[in-house]
Amino acid sequence: MSLLDRAAALDAADPLASYRDRFLPAPSVVSYLDGNSLGRPLAATADLMDDFVRDQWGGRLIQGWTDGWLEWPLTLGDRLGAIALGAAPGQTVVADSTTVLLYKLARAAVDARPGRRKVVLDTDNFPTDRYVLEGIAAERGLALHWIETDPVTGIEPAQVAEAVDADTALVLFSHVAYRSGWLADVPEINRIAHEAGALTLWDLCHSAGSVPIALDEWGVDLAVGCSYKYLNGGPGAPAFAYLRHSLQDSLRQPIQGWMGHRASFEMGPGYEAATGIRALLSGTPPILAMVPAHANLDMLAAAGIEAVRAKSLLLTGFVLELADEWLVPLGVEVVSPRSAERRGGHVTLRRPGFEQLLEPLWAAGVIPDYRRPDGLRIGPAPLSTSFTEVYQGLAVLRDLVEKHQ
Ligand SMILES: *Cc1c(COP(=O)(O)O)cnc(C)c1O
Repeated sequence: MSLLDRAAALDAADPLASYRDRFLPAPSVVSYLDGNSLGRPLAATADLMDDFVRDQWGGRLIQGWTDGWLEWPLTLGDRLGAIALGAAPGQTVVADSTTVLLYKLARAAVDARPGRRKVVLDTDNFPTDRYVLEGIAAERGLALHWIETDPVTGIEPAQVAEAVDADTALVLFSHVAYRSGWLADVPEINRIAHEAGALTLWDLCHSAGSVPIALDEWGVDLAVGCSYKYLNGGPGAPAFAYLRHSLQDSLRQPIQGWMGHRASFEMGPGYEAATGIRALLSGTPPILAMVPAHANLDMLAAAGIEAVRAKSLLLTGFVLELADEWLVPLGVEVVSPRSAERRGGHVTLRRPGFEQLLEPLWAAGVIPDYRRPDGLRIGPAPLSTSFTEVYQGLAVLRDLVEKHQ
């Protein structure tokens, strides 16, 4: 069977194939391979945005706040927790950006472990995670312990075991590494960190909506993630934070605003934190930017995260198959885990000179993700990408690599 026939056969057997039709068309795009950076919009999102502006905002005006907007950070958080995070109600909020939530949670965590002076993290984590922790370390007089990870794989439990000790307040890692796509063993790393008395903070940006997550079951203490990648929330859509029930009374986040107050509208003289997860909020929630979440969560609930993961593995498996057949012979390297057990939702390819191919790729309607210095990330979002689309995109890449040999 030719690879094109294989793509067609995989599409014909795909139980999620019809979900593609729910997305707005992008006429100039032949192959969108960057769902891990910005998910595509649903047609339902355009309608919801229009209704929201005309009816809820335009029609109800300030009454919208008491109609329900004030509860959205919590109600959407609970839905997200149930559909994608394996989190029981009352532990997830939608708010801020991932960067700001990382700051709030990491500060709360290190302050809850007084006397412990060490934070363990890895050198290959997303820049914002590293930068935020640098700032907190400077602010609180902590030492950062950097684990060097293999750039083709990622954080290993044995490395964490070697790094944590009685002085460790917090460990911070990404569930799926943004560069290699390595899927970390979250329960095992949690077990190791907890044995040393440290708290664990997980960044779910590259796994939420793509890989099944079981925060409660895995013993995660704190987590953050963004909603504009596999969750299709739109550019700059608000992030989410998870704080396990048993820690909610003892952790205090540092940005004490009126929306995290026990009684926001009493406008009282001093700050008194709300009980429960609401205390993670700071200012007025970005309601307008939360509108798409309603359509996206409906879709993900209907599709089911297990089915999404099954298709994701077939998609990235097909990427590997095409890469091995077409690109590896041309000097391209696969710099992602190959085993399904440790593979997240994207595959990264490496070759010097990829940067020069970006413009001709875009001109041909093929949109992968480029990461300096020479990595192309292929991130086919399962609900919006077909196998034929992956075939078409990588065929264009193959032709360009051949031409630029
Ligand atoms: C995308 C991403 C972020 C983004 O943070 P923002 O505050 O939304 O800019 C953070 N961490 C990881 C691991 C990411 O992949």
